[in-house]
Amino acid sequence: MMCSMHYFTPKRCETTSKIMYHDQQIAWQAAEQSRIERGVELWVYRCQYCGQWHLTHRDPALNQDVGHFKRSQKRYSRKKGYKPRYR
Ligand SMILES: [Zn+2]
Repeated sequence: MMCSMHYFTPKRCETTSKIMYHDQQIAWQAAEQSRIERGVELWVYRCQYCGQWHLTHRDPALNQDVGHFKRSQKRYSRKKGYKPRYR
């Protein structure tokens, strides 16, 4: 019988219902895989509720003031009329 489904059951966050990654590196790999396989660009952020890593469709750098994200190297200036690009 096929029981391989039991091996990898991703835990989900109780608050956000997102898949929890305990390792940031693994979360980025999943994000990369999604981009390659589905063309969906995802970002990794640390959940304030569970303390694990989640993937998000939106660039968290646009929503939150967090400094350690891969894609938030360039700081956006707080000009008037600045609009975050939501999808
Ligand atoms: Zn969470």
